[in-house]
Amino acid sequence: MKGKIIKLTGGYYYIKCDDVIYETRARGNFRHQNISPIVGDVVEFKYEDNNLGYIEKVYPRKNMLTRPRVSNVDVAVIIVPVKDPKYNLMLVDKTIIQAEYEGIDIAVVINKMDLDELEAKNLYDIYSNAGFKTFMISATNKETLKELKDFCKHKTVALSGVSAAGKSSITSAILDKDVQIGDVSNKTRRGRHTTRHVELLYSHDIYIFDTPGFSSIDLNIESEDLKNYFREFNNYREKCKFKDCNHINEPKCGVKEAVENGDISKNRYENYLLIFEELKNKGEY
Ligand code: ZN
Repeated sequence: MKGKIIKLTGGYYYIKCDDVIYETRARGNFRHQNISPIVGDVVEFKYEDNNLGYIEKVYPRKNMLTRPRVSNVDVAVIIVPVKDPKYNLMLVDKTIIQAEYEGIDIAVVINKMDLDELEAKNLYDIYSNAGFKTFMISATNKETLKELKDFCKHKTVALSGVSAAGKSSITSAILDKDVQIGDVSNKTRRGRHTTRHVELLYSHDIYIFDTPGFSSIDLNIESEDLKNYFREFNNYREKCKFKDCNHINEPKCGVKEAVENGDISKNRYENYLLIFEELKNKGEY
C-alpha cells in the first residue's frame, strides 16, 4: 500500500492511506541505507491485520525541512497579523529567506484585516509587489478565507507566525475542524529534552503543520548571497553597474534606484540591509 506519514511518535509511524490511518514500525534495514522515514514521506508499506505494519520503501523526497523534520512541503504560509500582536516584518522577511533557501514556495497571509483595513492593505502591497502570493483575510470571517482554502488544496503546508497570529483559527477554518496548534503545544511541552512532536494535521487532501518559527531562525547563508533571496531585486539587478553589486554602497545601482522610485518596498530593502549586516558580522567570528 502507498501512503503518507502523518505522525511519528515512540518509534511508530502513522500512515494515512485513503482516509484510514495505519500504525507501522520502520524496519531495521532502513538504518543500513541511511534513510530514516520522516513525517511527510510518501511510503510503500505492508499491513497484516496484526498490528505489525512496516514500511518497505520511502519514495524520493521533493524537499526536507530540518526544524521540524518534515519532507515534501509544497508551500510555506506565513501569517502576519495586522495588530494584536503587532507584526514584525523583520521576522517575516527572515522566514521568507529561509523558505527561499530551502526551495519552498511562499505565501503571505495578512490576518485580522478587520482591525485596520488601511494597514492590512499596506502590508498586502508590500508582499504582493515583492512577488509573493498574498492573501488578506480575517480568520473570524469565513468568506475571506475561501481563496486561501482553495490555494491549500492538494498541498502540504508549513504554517508559521508569531503566537496569537491566528494559526489555530486559520487551520481550523481550512481543515473544517477544530484544531489547536502552536500556543497550546508549547505550553504543554515539558523539559528541554522532550522530542518535538511532529504531526501533520489533515483533512482530505490538505496537510498542515506548525513550524517553531520566528524566534529560532538562524540563517545559514553568506551575506554576499543574501541578495539572491530577495526575489524582487531580480527585476532590477541588470541595471547595476557592477555584476556582483550588493545594492548597498555601490554607485549606479538598479536596485537602489528602484527603492527610490518606490518600485521596491523601502521596508523590505531596509530589512535587507539589516540582515546583511547581521550575516556579515556573524561571518567574521
Ligand atoms: Zn545594485
